[in-house]
Amino acid sequence: MAKHILILPGDGIGPEIIAEARKILEVLIAQGLVLSFSEGLIGGAAYEATGTPLPDATLADAKQADAVLLGAVGGPVWESLPMHLRPEKGLLGLRAELGLFANLRPAVLAPQLAAASTLKPEVVAGLDIMIVRELTGGIYFGQPRGIRIRDDGQREGVNTLVYSEHEIERIVRTACDVALQRDGRLCSVDKANVLECTELWREVATRVVREEYPEITLSHLYVDNAAMQLVKAPKQFDVIVTSNLFGDILSDCAAMLTGSIGMLGSASLNATGQGMYEPIHGSAPDIAGRGIANPLATLLSVAMMLRYSLAEPQVAQQIEAAVAAVLDAGLRTPDIMSPGMTEVSCQTMGDAVAQHLHGST
Ligand code: NAD
Repeated sequence: MAKHILILPGDGIGPEIIAEARKILEVLIAQGLVLSFSEGLIGGAAYEATGTPLPDATLADAKQADAVLLGAVGGPVWESLPMHLRPEKGLLGLRAELGLFANLRPAVLAPQLAAASTLKPEVVAGLDIMIVRELTGGIYFGQPRGIRIRDDGQREGVNTLVYSEHEIERIVRTACDVALQRDGRLCSVDKANVLECTELWREVATRVVREEYPEITLSHLYVDNAAMQLVKAPKQFDVIVTSNLFGDILSDCAAMLTGSIGMLGSASLNATGQGMYEPIHGSAPDIAGRGIANPLATLLSVAMMLRYSLAEPQVAQQIEAAVAAVLDAGLRTPDIMSPGMTEVSCQTMGDAVAQHLHGST
């Protein structure tokens, strides 16, 4: 049966970058990929049309789809709305409703863009790591939480770090499955020397790999050391798996190694392999409507979608190769422009990738 994708352009530059993704999907379909897609509303655009950032129809369509491809949500016009009507609530609601517990954040630095990093080119050129972050548990959701008043009148803030064995097992399994499609090396990051919760994390990760994934090479790092290693020698990593809080911080740190948020995609997966795919950047209202957004993070999100939810790793590779080819040809949107290169619009960049895909078959 044809796999179905729900496309949610969203706000700001969302519609512009998604138009380029649609172009790529149309080329792939014309080349024989059996795939269908439809579009829905989310975020500020959904609020304007229906009064809510996550309409029931969008949620129902998302649950039926094999994968969701999202542009971005948010913008200054909706910032004064009550919290439950803000565009970001649409995105958070969708993540929760689909049970997306695993967040995959690649940090890839194309050799052609090595100069964009703040680190020395020899430290980062060719960087290709994947951070797998637990997304629905840990200290962001643990109970009790809040700010309370103690008997002595002092206020105290409380959050709870809690992970069940089941939650650790499933995120480690996802990370192992990802590692099997790459170099087979997994580094589990914890703070097992101080936090009992992550002592359990380390124990469970070790057991899952030993019993279920003997072909994976597993290592462990404390989170403080992992942060140091990420900026000292980031290319030592293949896949990193970690908790919600540590992953939040480490994945942003790793993204910045690459110097450009316009180049990085992401995936959020649930237990059935269904996923939501989106660039890591936001709706960039400062450049929306000017045709200068970089669509490559979105196109690389499409490649992730083909690899992780649609079982088409070779087509994913074709997209990645086409992106590399346009960079080799010197095409750059303004955010990644450097001397001697050719500055192009969002649309021209998308056209160039589509053209390379045409040529690669
Ligand atoms: P942002 O990522 O939208 O933009 C940060 C900077 O990067 C801006 O200068 C922007 O022009 C630039 N930029 C981002 N994407 C780019 C691209 N593809 N090409 C070229 N330049 C790009 O972050 P922000 O400005 O903090 O947030 C803007 C809005 O986006 C807010 O409403 C925020 O809530 C929302 N947001 C949404 C998501 C999401 O939908 N997943 C994520 C983050 C922020």
